[in-house]
Amino acid sequence: MSEHHQFDVIVVGGGHAGTEAALAPARMGLRTLLLTHNIETLGQMSCNPAIGGIGKGHLVKEVDALGGLMARGADHAGIQFRMLNASKGPAVRATRAQADRALYKAFVRHELENTPNLTLFQQPVDDLILEGERITGVITQMGLKFYAPAVVLTVGTFLAGRIHIGMENMPGGRAGDAPSNALSVRLREALPRIGRLKTGTPPRLDGRTINWDVLTPQPGDTPTPVFSFMGSRAQHPQQINCHITHTNEQTHDIIRSGFDRSPMFNGVIEGVGPRYCPSVEDKVNRFSDKLSHQIFLEPEGLSTTEIYPNGISTSLPYDIQERFVRSIKGLENTRIVRPGYAIEYDYFDPRDLQNSLQSKHIKGLYLAGQINGTTGYEEAAAQGLLAGINAGLQVKNEAPWTPQRHEAYIGVLVDDLITRGTTEPYRMFTSRAEHRLLLREDNADLRLTELGRNMGLVDDARWQHFTQKREAIELERTRLDQLWLKPAQLSTPEIVEVFGPAAVSSGFSALELLRRPQGDYATLARLGMGADGIDPDVAEQVEIQTKYAGYIDRQQLDIERSRRHEDAPLPLDLDYTAVTGLSNEVRVKLVQHRPQTVAQASRIQGITPAAVSLLLVHLKKTG
Ligand code: FAD
Repeated sequence: MSEHHQFDVIVVGGGHAGTEAALAPARMGLRTLLLTHNIETLGQMSCNPAIGGIGKGHLVKEVDALGGLMARGADHAGIQFRMLNASKGPAVRATRAQADRALYKAFVRHELENTPNLTLFQQPVDDLILEGERITGVITQMGLKFYAPAVVLTVGTFLAGRIHIGMENMPGGRAGDAPSNALSVRLREALPRIGRLKTGTPPRLDGRTINWDVLTPQPGDTPTPVFSFMGSRAQHPQQINCHITHTNEQTHDIIRSGFDRSPMFNGVIEGVGPRYCPSVEDKVNRFSDKLSHQIFLEPEGLSTTEIYPNGISTSLPYDIQERFVRSIKGLENTRIVRPGYAIEYDYFDPRDLQNSLQSKHIKGLYLAGQINGTTGYEEAAAQGLLAGINAGLQVKNEAPWTPQRHEAYIGVLVDDLITRGTTEPYRMFTSRAEHRLLLREDNADLRLTELGRNMGLVDDARWQHFTQKREAIELERTRLDQLWLKPAQLSTPEIVEVFGPAAVSSGFSALELLRRPQGDYATLARLGMGADGIDPDVAEQVEIQTKYAGYIDRQQLDIERSRRHEDAPLPLDLDYTAVTGLSNEVRVKLVQHRPQTVAQASRIQGITPAAVSLLLVHLKKTG
C-alpha cells in the first residue's frame, strides 16, 4: 500500500459537516484526507444563502469558539447582517448573515487548501473497507483504496437522492449533482436503522425582472453584527438590502390548483419534510385560513442577479411554479432562473450513534450532518466538528469528548439526536436547551475556547485574543466592584427617578448599578464612571454576567444537582434483564437506545423517574 493512501482520518463529503470534520483533526496535527465528489462544490450552500438565526447562530459561535470555520466564512461573505431578537434577553439573541454564495465557497476552499496536514482529493466514495466490526478505509469509484483507522461520513442529501418537480422525478444528490447510490447500497447492508427524509428549495429568480420599486426594503442592522470572535467589520464585503413581499389569495388558488400533481400530496414522496421550514404548498394546505405568507427576497451574491425567495420552497409542477410566482406583488414579470424542487434521501437513525458520533455498530466510523436526520448548515457544521474532533482523539488514543447539555448547544443537539432519534429533519432552536441562560451566543468563547485549546484546535492568535478578553472582563468587574457611588453623586433628578430615593440615599457600587434592571454602561458614563475605550464585547459580557447573575447561579445549582446522574455511566453491554423491577416496556426501550449515562436514559420517552431510580440502585449494587 502506498504511503500516499494511508491517513489518520478520512472525511467523506465536502459540505458543511465535511469541511469542519476535516479541519478539526488537521488542526490537531493529524494527517487528514477529505474525499469529495467535486472540489468546485466545497462549502456549497445547497439551499438558502444564509448562516445563523435563532439557535443556529448559537451553534455557529460554538463552532467558532472551537476554532472552526463557519463564522469566519460568514464574516468574509456576509452581505447583510442582523441580530435577531435584539430587544429580547441575551439568551435568545442570535446573529444571522445573508451570504454571497460564491464568496463563501471561495473562503472555504482557501481555508481547506491552506491548512497544514490536510489533503483534498476529488472522487466519489463507493464502498467501505471493513475488518470485522471495524472500518479501516474506503474505496472510491475508480477503485482507489484509502486507509485510516477513523472515517467520518458526511454525505448530506446524496444517499440514493431523488429530486422531485411535480410528477417528474430523477436521481440527484442536489440539483446539478449526481447521487451516491453505490454507497447507499453498501451502507444499507452495514447499518441497521435507515429511513428517508425530504427537504425542498424554492425556484430562484432573475433579479433584473423584479419590480423592486413596489417592495419593502429590509436593510441590515447598524452597527453591523460580526459573527466570529476573531472577526471584524472590516472583513465584511459591501452590504446590501433584502426585500419583503407576500403571497396573496390568488397565489394560494394557483398553488391549490396544482395539488393533484404535487408529489407531496399524491404519495410519490414518502420522506418526511422539515416541520419548521415547510414548502409553500404545505403552508397553504395546513393553514388554509391564512390569506398571505411573507417572502424575503434575498440576493444570492454581489456578482449575480439571482435572487433566493425565502418562504416559497416547492416541489409543485414547473408550470404552477411560474404562475404562482407571477401572482406575487413585484414579481409579475419575473423569470425563474432555476426551478424549485424537493429531494428525498437516506438518513441513519442517530440512536445508533454514541455521543462521540461514532457508530455503535462499526468501530472507527463516525457519521455527521444531514445523514443523521438533521437539516441546516449550522447543525451539520456542529456535528462535523464534533465527529472530526472525536475521530482525531480516537487516533491519538485519547478519551472522546462531547459537551454536555449545559455546556453547549452542540451538546444539546447530539444528546437529542442520540437519545430521542428523529423522524423529521431536526433543526436547532433555543427552546431545545433547558439551560439557555448559560448557553448564550455572547459567551460561547468563554464556555469552549479553553477546551478547544487543550485539544489542539485553537491557534495562538485566537488563544491570545481570548485570554486578553477574559482578563479584561475580570479587570473591569473588579474596577466596577470597587467603584463606590456616593449618595451625593447619585442625587441627580434623573438617577433618583430611575433608582428611587431609598437606593440613592445609601449609595451603591458601580457593579450594583449594573445589576439593577435599569442600570447600564450609558448610565455609568453619565455619572462619569464609564470605562473609556473599553472593548464593547468586554462591556457586554460584564453587563450580562452582572445583570443575570441571580438566574445564572440558579441554573448552575440545578445543573450541579442533576450532575450526579449525568456522571453515572451505563455500560453499552449492560444486561437490562438483570435490573430488578424494570417493566418489560422500559427494558425494551433501554435495549433499543443503549444510553451511555443514567441522565441520557432519563430523557428517553417513556423512561420514568422510578425506572431511573432502579437503574441507580442496580449500578450501586454492581459497581
Ligand atoms: P451537504 O452539504 O449535502 O454535503 C454533502 C457533501 O458530500 C457534498 O460535498 C457531496 O458532494 C459529498 N458527497 C456525497 N456523497 C459522496 C460520496 N459518495 N463520495 C464523496 N463525496 C460525497 N437546510 C435548511 O436549513 N433549510 C432548508 O430549507 C434547506 N433546504 C434544502 C433544500 C435542498 C434541495 C437541499 C439539497 C438541502 C436543503 N437544506 C436545507 C439542507 C442543507 O443544505 C443541509 O442541511 C446541509 O448542506 C447539510 O450539510 P452536510 O455537510 O451534511 O451535507
